[in-house]
Amino acid sequence: MNIDFDLIIIGGGINGVGIARDAASRGLRTCLLEQGDLCNGTTRWSSRLIHGGLRYLEHAELGLVYESLHERETLLKIAPHLVQPIKLLIPIYSGGRRGKLLINAGMWLYDLLSLGKSVPRHEMFTAQEALDELPPLNRDGLLGAAAYFDAQVTFAERLVVENALAAQAAGAQVHTYSRVDRILYGARRIRGVRYTDLRSDQQCDLFAPVVVNASGPWVDRVLEKNVKPPLRLMGGTKGTHIVVPAIPGQPRIACYLEAESDGRPFFIIPWNDMLLIGTTDIRFDGNPGEVVAEDGEINYLLSETNHVFPDANLNRKNIHYHYTGVRPLPRKEKKAEGDVTRRHIIKHHRRVARGFYSVIGGKLTTYRNLAEEMTDRVIRRLRHKGPKCQTANDPLPGAVINISRVVDELDACDLISPESRLHLLNVYGSRALLIKELVITDPRLGDEICPYSHTIAAEIIFAYQHELPTTLADVLLRRTMIGLSPDLGRSALPKALDIARHHVGWSAARADEEERRYLREIGRLSGRLTA
Ligand SMILES: Cc1cc2nc3c(=O)[nH]c(=O)nc-3n(C[C@H](O)[C@H](O)[C@H](O)COP(=O)(O)OP(=O)(O)OC[C@H]3O[C@@H](n4cnc5c(N)ncnc54)[C@H](O)[C@@H]3O)c2cc1C
Repeated sequence: MNIDFDLIIIGGGINGVGIARDAASRGLRTCLLEQGDLCNGTTRWSSRLIHGGLRYLEHAELGLVYESLHERETLLKIAPHLVQPIKLLIPIYSGGRRGKLLINAGMWLYDLLSLGKSVPRHEMFTAQEALDELPPLNRDGLLGAAAYFDAQVTFAERLVVENALAAQAAGAQVHTYSRVDRILYGARRIRGVRYTDLRSDQQCDLFAPVVVNASGPWVDRVLEKNVKPPLRLMGGTKGTHIVVPAIPGQPRIACYLEAESDGRPFFIIPWNDMLLIGTTDIRFDGNPGEVVAEDGEINYLLSETNHVFPDANLNRKNIHYHYTGVRPLPRKEKKAEGDVTRRHIIKHHRRVARGFYSVIGGKLTTYRNLAEEMTDRVIRRLRHKGPKCQTANDPLPGAVINISRVVDELDACDLISPESRLHLLNVYGSRALLIKELVITDPRLGDEICPYSHTIAAEIIFAYQHELPTTLADVLLRRTMIGLSPDLGRSALPKALDIARHHVGWSAARADEEERRYLREIGRLSGRLTA
């Protein structure tokens, strides 16, 4: 039997690409297969926080909090262009489930578990100080607040893309729109996978002595077609966010709250010049690709936000869009949704086929550590002699090591507006300089095509040249980030299509098809807001 690779990874979410980057950089011949585009699943439906998870302290998951805080520091270091500190405020109200003393104790423990961190330690505020920090807060019954720092990855999509690019640069093959249909095994050993290239509809077999099922909430679906009797490892819960306009005058401080109606924790987070509000936590057994927000979830998020920011007076008309994802949690039927651990589990299916693994659970925050643990196991299994894991030290491709040099070089290009230069820095980090080079060769490519995100024409071409997209939706929603603008990129669509026709070589028919496809994809983010 031919061996094509040492390792095949199923799934191009944060965990799959993280494993691919680590494995390839340690010399493993690695192939990643993703059924859609990169970041097609839960990763982009998250709250986009790189956080210790204060809530897990209540469940005595000190190990998970410690690991998460450690990883937060690592990501601030290796991806400073994508992951940035954010201040959070926990308002404390009379009658709340968690009083000032308990919250202060939790804050001390959180600080202690993140010793050596780069962000400031927590502070406790009186009611007046809390209002000075965050003026829109409801003052009725306000006793005070705690303030602390965590981190935010505004564009989780870019974190996935950059990990995939780093994996590719280290020698991995990354195939998007490649759906794994069968796990190939015999005599209790894994042999490889059968997948369909969804662009050509061709089926193909690939062989490797290790296969990792990193398909997030799809893990059981990948297993069910291949393992009899079916294994039920996942107990997914769905979570919805709404995106609304920023409250005028609100500083860049997030709010971590206890919901009035049921005491559940939820966030109101300044994000992408808007507010990201979430989330819910409801058991979900359906197809993760078809999960949508329900009216009850939207109402819950609106009314809880109006309770804490009474002058916001939000209603459905204020919602720019909403999104829903499924947490790939381990199956724990007897536990309440919020009590299920967010720790990851690596399951070796040795009774089915040695060398076949599934990744269950985990957080966006801890993906790098998960990838290291998974790659260590693959290396031990293959008795591979390679370098030790370097992903905690090696910066991601766009990491800005010398910020003033990058800013100076960008500023020297007056073909790009100051707003667009800032946007380029926030989305691509030091790789913004490659986009600037495109503009220098053709100044028209410096034109803004989106009034919200300040995206320029050159980015569409850059994406097709360097960042592995297939469809226009891949470019707008998961590369340039136009698609996360308040209008979901609708106003930029004609110009983006025009650039693809003239510079990428699309026919008129292809452009029409791409437009239809894009509108269908964003329809899911703005649909069903009826009641
Ligand atoms: C509402 C919500 C909020 C969250 N907030 C946070 C947060 O703030 N911070 C945090 O740290 N974590 C958060 N999380 C958790 C975090 O988002 C997830 O744990 C993480 O993104 C999971 O990544 P993944 O790669 O395992 O899964 P995914 O991102 O879902 O990736 C799996 C991929 O596998 C692909 N796939 C599936 N089947 C196949 C197949 N047959 N062949 C090929 N490919 C396949 C899918 O298309 C998908 O792209 C949140 C989760 C949710 C739902």
